[in-house]
Amino acid sequence: MSAETFSFKSEARQLLNLMIHSLYSTKDIFLRELISNASDALDKRRFEALTDPALLNGEPLRVRVRGAGEGEYGGTLVISDNGVGMSREELIQNLGTIAHSGTKEFLAKVKESKERGEQREVDSLIGQFGVGFYSSFIVAHTVEVVSRRAGSAEAWLWRSQGDGEFTLEPASRDEVGTTITLHLRAPNEEDGLEDFSKEWTLRATIKRYSDFVQYPVELWASASKPVMGDEAGDEAGDEAGDEAGDAKGAPERVWLWEQVNSMKAIWARDPAEVTDAEYNELYKHISKDWTPPADRLRFKVEGGMEFTALLFVPSRRPHDLFYREQKFGLQLYANRVLIKESAEELLPPWLRFMKGVVESPDISLNVSREMLQQDRHVRVIKKQVISKTLKHLSETLKERRDAYVDIWKNFGEVLKESSVDYESADKAKALFLFKSSAQEGFTTLDEYIERMKEGQEHIYYATGESVAAIERSPHLEAFKDKGVEVLYLDQPIDEWLVGNLMNYNDKELRSVSKGAVDLGTEEERKKAEEEREEAQKDAADLLERLKAPLSEHVKEVRLSSRLTSSPACLVVDEHAASPQMQRLMEQMGDKVPKQKRILELNPKHALFERLKGALGGEDAESAGRYAQLLYGQALIAEGSPVSDPAAFTEALTALMVGR
Ligand code: ADP
Repeated sequence: MSAETFSFKSEARQLLNLMIHSLYSTKDIFLRELISNASDALDKRRFEALTDPALLNGEPLRVRVRGAGEGEYGGTLVISDNGVGMSREELIQNLGTIAHSGTKEFLAKVKESKERGEQREVDSLIGQFGVGFYSSFIVAHTVEVVSRRAGSAEAWLWRSQGDGEFTLEPASRDEVGTTITLHLRAPNEEDGLEDFSKEWTLRATIKRYSDFVQYPVELWASASKPVMGDEAGDEAGDEAGDEAGDAKGAPERVWLWEQVNSMKAIWARDPAEVTDAEYNELYKHISKDWTPPADRLRFKVEGGMEFTALLFVPSRRPHDLFYREQKFGLQLYANRVLIKESAEELLPPWLRFMKGVVESPDISLNVSREMLQQDRHVRVIKKQVISKTLKHLSETLKERRDAYVDIWKNFGEVLKESSVDYESADKAKALFLFKSSAQEGFTTLDEYIERMKEGQEHIYYATGESVAAIERSPHLEAFKDKGVEVLYLDQPIDEWLVGNLMNYNDKELRSVSKGAVDLGTEEERKKAEEEREEAQKDAADLLERLKAPLSEHVKEVRLSSRLTSSPACLVVDEHAASPQMQRLMEQMGDKVPKQKRILELNPKHALFERLKGALGGEDAESAGRYAQLLYGQALIAEGSPVSDPAAFTEALTALMVGR
């Protein structure tokens, strides 16, 4: 059968094009990517063999790296593994399209940078994202992949020059696994392209990026000939002597497979010995996020159930944080065998941004991935992960506020989801940060409570689309006037949040736009309420006349105690859903009965006096216009759309022409 030709899917083509023309300076990352893929493939084979031992046959799993052709160029680099391999279909699917979702974001960012003419930005993006298999083309002009799927006797050769097409043809491979041959571009000092066929370059690169990989990464390396025996094996025997020392007395050189990585599981090593760089490499490996993490925590639980955890908080928000199908979870190991790549059973949804590894000798190797949730040990681990993480975040908040604020900015919206987790909500609430009228930056609820005025009973908040919009809202006037702090809740999730938060440390959370305002001491409140009621009685007639034309939208028109400078605003009853919440529910497809609100007028405003004068007569038409204007204005002031723009403009025009 001759070779069949296929086209890359368009995104893969864009990506390849970028790799080929990349000036990206850290070119050696391609090797990390390929070793990482190989290690994943070994995990998969080992995992499949748990249920079908014949798939492994006791074969030792490993990755092999071999450079050849030093000297005049024609250098190659071969990376082979005896992992799970790929079938013909898998080769087409995995190496012809773009599998990982991060690449979409990557390409979008690249486009942005290109439009701004920032080539250097494009280059650094390649490093930040890590682009998997395709990064081979940073260093290779031609790539060949021979692969044989576990459980199959067939092998296939995939070949491409990264130019938009690849070919597939039958091949042979003695064992299961994948061999990737990179035909290297000529080294070029100016471009920072090293010679990746050289042993020492390869050794350093493997050490740098792949030391913790859980399988031996073996390098075809030269060594002094051992005095006894031939440890180099058959293959070494063939080539031994190539580089034999020629000086008299110098030891003879032989070639052999040498394990280069230490394979030490970082989470099992003495913390004093692990460097930040090593932690960061592990993080990159498991998270596929190429920016170093913002924070990490490591702990061990002993006595009874035993496990070790190494957890990371990313330093940037992944683009799919709010996708419903987003995969999340921690890597779960049992005695160095990866049981599940992302075990979401170990994290609550509100910690889904966390990355990391959990290893426990108590987890059975045969536990089915579907059954993890029912596993008693897994449930214990999850509980501990939650409590240790909350404790760690709380310490970060206390001791390294700036770092915590950054974490909050990225993941606060997710952490807020904990408010429905009754087991954790109390502790988690203490970690919530809010913007507020009292100060720049963020405040916690505890800090708010400390600043509460004497006699203040509740925690007040205002919701809106942005801080600027909230600050303009008339609902805040009385609070500003009395110097009472108001939390500014400006995220879409906040409407939902306050519905669940209800109270904190026995203090009720109250919206500034709901119910009646009750600021000041008890005496002051009583007096203000009496005055308001008195004035309300006096104005009863006027208020009724204003209400009639608005009856479709408004259930009551009353005098306000929350306004100082605005003439009017709209409020809802204390326990009713806010208009933002209503909109949110409508957007989510819920049928919500239309709720009428309350129009409040400011009795101290000059406009109120004018109204009294203007509507003293029996003129129903002008009462209607005033009502439309007041209502429309109140909507505009809170940032809502005017519900009947035609009626509003007509009333406005009429007023302007003095009718
Ligand atoms: P990613 O590893 O992020 O999914 P890559 O482009 O690096 O993206 O690889 C695409 C897919 O190709 C992998 O998900 C895997 O299924 C497959 N693959 C890559 N390398 C190997 C390998 N050495 N053995 C088996 N499968 C591989």
